[in-house]
Amino acid sequence: MKSDIRVCAAWRDAHERPVYSLSSTCPECGGETENSAPAPFDPKDAYGEYRRALKRRVRE
Ligand SMILES: [Zn+2]
Repeated sequence: MKSDIRVCAAWRDAHERPVYSLSSTCPECGGETENSAPAPFDPKDAYGEYRRALKRRVRE
């Protein structure tokens, strides 16, 4: 199944982090969104790592 998650095309200027949406417009700034194609570096990973670190700390 093809992913149709989109990301605000102007998030680097308009937001502090990527704003994801399923619609063709950004829910926060109303700007256009673009297909969030898999990138070599995914900015979400930083947050995922942070969450995983927190989870580890809770478990220990
Ligand atoms: Zn936006």
